[in-house]
Amino acid sequence: MKTFLLFSFLFLSSLWATPLEKVSLQLQWKHQFEFAGFYAAKEKGFYKDLGLDVEFLEFNENTNITQEVLDNKAQYGLTYSSIIAEYLNGKPVVLVANFFKQSPLILVAQKNIQTLNDLKGKKVMGISEGIDHSTLLAMLSKFDISTQDIINIPTNFSIDDFINKKVDAMSIFTTNELYYLEQSGVQYTVFDPVLYGAKYYDVNLFTSTNEIKNHPKRVQKFRDASIKGWEYALEHKEEIIDLILKKYNTQNKSKEALKFEAAQIEKIMLRNVYEIGSIDLERLKIIADTFVESGFVKKDKSKNLEHFIYDYKVQNKTINLSKEEKEYLQKKREISICADPDWMPFEAIKDARLTGLNKEFIQIAQESLGVPFKLVATKTWSESLEYVQTKRCDILSLVSQTDARKKYLNFTTPHLEVPQVIVTKIDKPSILDIGILEDQTIACVKNYSIIDMIQQKYKNIKIVEVENIQEGLDMVREDKVFGFADTSVAIGYYIQNGFFTDLKISASFDEKVSLGFGVPKENLLLYGLLEKVVQNISEEQKQDIMKKWFFIKQEVGFDYSLFWKMIAVFVFLLAFFLYRHYELKKLNKKLQNFATTDSLTLLVNRRQFNDTFQTEFSRAVRETSPISVLMLDIDLFKNYNDHYGHQAGDECLFRVAQAIKASVHRAGDLVARYGGEEFVVIAPSTSEQNAKQLAEKIRLEVESLNIEHPKSPYSKVTLSIGIASITPNSQSQEQELLSCADQALYKAKESGRNCSVTFVSY
Ligand code: GH3
Ligand code: MG
Ligand code: MG
Repeated sequence: MKTFLLFSFLFLSSLWATPLEKVSLQLQWKHQFEFAGFYAAKEKGFYKDLGLDVEFLEFNENTNITQEVLDNKAQYGLTYSSIIAEYLNGKPVVLVANFFKQSPLILVAQKNIQTLNDLKGKKVMGISEGIDHSTLLAMLSKFDISTQDIINIPTNFSIDDFINKKVDAMSIFTTNELYYLEQSGVQYTVFDPVLYGAKYYDVNLFTSTNEIKNHPKRVQKFRDASIKGWEYALEHKEEIIDLILKKYNTQNKSKEALKFEAAQIEKIMLRNVYEIGSIDLERLKIIADTFVESGFVKKDKSKNLEHFIYDYKVQNKTINLSKEEKEYLQKKREISICADPDWMPFEAIKDARLTGLNKEFIQIAQESLGVPFKLVATKTWSESLEYVQTKRCDILSLVSQTDARKKYLNFTTPHLEVPQVIVTKIDKPSILDIGILEDQTIACVKNYSIIDMIQQKYKNIKIVEVENIQEGLDMVREDKVFGFADTSVAIGYYIQNGFFTDLKISASFDEKVSLGFGVPKENLLLYGLLEKVVQNISEEQKQDIMKKWFFIKQEVGFDYSLFWKMIAVFVFLLAFFLYRHYELKKLNKKLQNFATTDSLTLLVNRRQFNDTFQTEFSRAVRETSPISVLMLDIDLFKNYNDHYGHQAGDECLFRVAQAIKASVHRAGDLVARYGGEEFVVIAPSTSEQNAKQLAEKIRLEVESLNIEHPKSPYSKVTLSIGIASITPNSQSQEQELLSCADQALYKAKESGRNCSVTFVSY
């Protein structure tokens, strides 16, 4: 139902020009020439030309650059070579481009210090054991010097301490502090890690794997415009320096200092050696090796760095095929498909050719697999179903799962998910609850999965089978049936094409229909191939197809009277949904993750939780591995609301939700809003003991938010947590596990709140 609204909005928004997409770039330091290329790309309209509106987020002491990007607070980030180690240690990040081929971080020492060996026992400022200093550490280790051999002075970033000889040596950036050092006239010795073989990348543009998956084109655009920006900035340094002075000079740098910085930066960009933005795989491997050597990455963690590098040519088109799969495709030459001959806008057969939006997905499949897909034309959907069973075609191009079909088909992960609705005559009252439709007759297209769904869930509804939508809608008009049920998209298409005069959408089912490819059970190889194709289709590609399809339709002979009728329908629908779900007012903000995301906390919602929980539980049964559930409830939250008001309550819920999410790092773990001020965490492959640790971590994280709560004995907002773990067998029930966690939560509340309790059976 929610997706239907999303669809409506998409549908309407496609009538107007697409606005710029807002994205942000997390900088790795404060504004300066280090980011000149990005400023230039913005100022010169390179981002805008590609449809992007880019915001720059300045670094401060509390910024965790990688986390900002992983949390999607910024879609892109700039950072040090440490990003390579983070990738190797399991963070889902991708390197999009590199700008500085060498790190500007060097060590300067007083003039009397001539070799690195002379540093032993000396006061050195600003060398930590941290990964961001690993070039310096690597350089020192060549001379067998560790941080224990020097007197380590924490950095205060002040070059004055060096100039005034308070320290013997100091780590500085050639791009910044070196300028002031030169100005001072003090003599010094430089130890540059580059000369000792520690060549590290800097100003690495990276993003999350999610962004790559969901917005591959945007990544490409952002990258291309940024590179263009850098080319411009290096050719027009003065202009960009003036721009920084005018718009970005938060550090109050002088024009001279910026000029010095620009010149240093040009050196380490090594433009004569590398293309701006390029990434050298071998260089990455070397850096990765040094991280392994120095213990920042465990040896067994080092893996293929090719997947770490963004390359849109590879990313977008090809799929990795096994030898067996390649041979199969070579032999097969073409894949024959059966489709629904009359199911616009999804698909239809006109003059023995496939048309409709699914054709675009078929095209993607063709390109990905490199073999043609050939249509075997049929007259009806039933005939298509029969053909695939009798092997007259290899696959069904778009089909949803039903019990009957499961007997002979495997289904790929759906590439389309759409809501299902009922159309009635316009004078019929709207149906808020389909469950109350007693003994009404609804027409459905023969053999469509919606029939099975209605028969299972709404036993009081009588079904009349028709051959196609047209026949169904005619029956509604002629009062032969109460309504006609199909997907919102198919019906919307008919409305849009002028069949809409006396009909309206009166109800929407909670159940969506999920559509993917259908492959005969015995052909597992082909099934695997198509699954790979589907996995490779991004959300962005899907939305592009949907939007494009409907947009084209609008352009052909636009009929404004129809337009206003459509608006009327959607306004009506909106009112209808608002009535049933008053929270919808919040949903505009988060249209994209509509169906699965809770709009207040941005966590996964209860429905999605149910789905995932079921899947994870079944997996745990299959693999006889442990699974844990945490039930979390905010303490005395009613009091909080009463004291500060509901709006503050909402804000507090959001913060707590984010804190919980931030404490749960493992891929596969799921954090969901269970309801009200209750949350739930599923932790697959997690023992009771580990679950307890996780619970404590979350509890302390929330406590440390220090959100004032005057009515709490702890004076701040706290959580109570119930934990239940099981290694399930086929008799186990997932609901039981939830209920155990719930009982444990009750115990936690009883024992004074702000604690976690593990369920124990007696
Ligand atoms: P306890 O620690 O025993 O659980 O006390 P409690 O007050 O938290 O428990 P109770 O379940 O009685 O109250 C939950 C309150 O949470 C009720 C409601 O005011 C508040 N609440 C639930 N959902 C929301 C929401 O979306 N926004 C806001 N602001 N408050 C909510
Ligand atoms: Mg509660
Ligand atoms: Mg509570």
